[in-house]
Amino acid sequence: MHGYQHTALNLATTSVVAAALTLLGHPQTAAAVSTGMVFGTLLVTPDLDLHYNDARRNWGALKAIWAPYAAMSTHRGINHTYLAGPLLRLLYLAFWFAVPVYLLWQWPAAAAWAREFPREMLFSAFLGYLMSQWLHLLCDGIIPFQQRKRPRPARGPLSRTEQTRSSGSRWSRR
Ligand SMILES: [Zn+2]
Repeated sequence: MHGYQHTALNLATTSVVAAALTLLGHPQTAAAVSTGMVFGTLLVTPDLDLHYNDARRNWGALKAIWAPYAAMSTHRGINHTYLAGPLLRLLYLAFWFAVPVYLLWQWPAAAAWAREFPREMLFSAFLGYLMSQWLHLLCDGIIPFQQRKRPRPARGPLSRTEQTRSSGSRWSRR
C-alpha cells in the first residue's frame, strides 16, 4: 500500500470512530482518540523506517530527527510489529523531546496544566495512536502475533506435520 493510501484509509477510519463515539455520547473521548489516530497517521507511522515518506515530510523543519531512526532500521523489521514498534517510536520521540519538556515543566503554569490534564484523555489518545499503527500494519498484510516467528531448531527427526510446517511459506519474511 502506498503512503497516501495508508493516510486516506487511516483518516477515513478516524472519522468513523470519532463519529461513532460522539453519537454514543462520548465527545471528549472521541476528540482524544482522534487526536491519537491523526498523530499516528500524519506524524508517527511505522513507515518512518523509510528514508522518504509522508510522515517524515510532515515534520517540516524537524524531519531530521527521524534520520537516525531510519538509518538504524530495516524496513518492516521491528518497526512493523504490533507492540514493540509503536512503543519504540514513542520512546524515540521522548528521547528527542525530554529536554524541551523538562524545561517547559519548570514553568509553573505549564506544570499545573499538565498535572490537571485528565489521565483518561491521555490513555484514549494512546489507544487512538495504537489503533492507527495497527490499521497500518493490517493494510501492509501483517497479521498480529505471526510476524517475526522463526522455526525452532529441530531436536530430532521431524514428524510429517512439522516438516510440512517448517518448509511452508509460513515462516518466510514479508
Ligand atoms: Zn508500512
